[in-house]
Amino acid sequence: MEIYSYSKLSTFEQCPLKYKFRYIDKIIIPEKTIESLLGKIIHKALEWLYLEVKNGVIPSLDDVLLFYTKKWQEEDFSNGIIMNGNLTLSDYYNRGIQLLTNYYFKHKPFDDNTLDVEKEIIVSLDEFKNYLIRGFIDRLAYNLKTCEYEIHDYKTSNFLPSREKISNDKQLALYSFAIKKMFGENKGVLLVWHYLAHNLKISLKKTNDEIYKLKEETIDLIKKIKSTKNFSPCVSRFCNWCEYKKICPAFGGN
Ligand code: SF4
Repeated sequence: MEIYSYSKLSTFEQCPLKYKFRYIDKIIIPEKTIESLLGKIIHKALEWLYLEVKNGVIPSLDDVLLFYTKKWQEEDFSNGIIMNGNLTLSDYYNRGIQLLTNYYFKHKPFDDNTLDVEKEIIVSLDEFKNYLIRGFIDRLAYNLKTCEYEIHDYKTSNFLPSREKISNDKQLALYSFAIKKMFGENKGVLLVWHYLAHNLKISLKKTNDEIYKLKEETIDLIKKIKSTKNFSPCVSRFCNWCEYKKICPAFGGN
């Protein structure tokens, strides 16, 4: 049985051909952008920080930055890393230090009752398990004052979407469907985005009607993917970051 992730669904919506390259042909291109690598290392550092907190220890900022530096040094930057603009590796390393430092001072002592980090969720959108969604929640907390679950997501790019775009984000809304399935439909679930580059936290809640509508739309999207025979290229600004650009017919590839 095929399981869909949010990134799989959004790749199809972005460009059906990219979806085919990645998920049907399974073409692996080892190129990664420096931004995605930096994001991965920052996520690891925050995961470690909250695991320590869960174990009763509040790490110092130096400890967090030491962990981050260790993970940075473990990366192999020689292997097809895509650099953008004029920034150097050391600029990106320092950027990570800055983002983590800002986050640290804003959220210390990290006492929002974290239940789990990198929590895997697998949920069926229908009763027959025909439409399965799998994902990882950066951090799941339970707010003891409001008695609500909180789904926390870290964003490390410089891009800050409009409030409207954030409220239309499908990823955390799908995760909130999963949490409600696990803990009860009437449980409150707060969606929380941390835009680290802006030192900004944005939260909102989805109504059960909105979540139900998204669930139906997602089932329709999966049906569309399953019935697609012709995976056409869809040229957009996302092509600038597409790892398949060199082999894409829209850009002269075969
Ligand atoms: S380069 Fe653009 S059109 Fe081609 S596969 Fe990638 S996203 Fe699609």
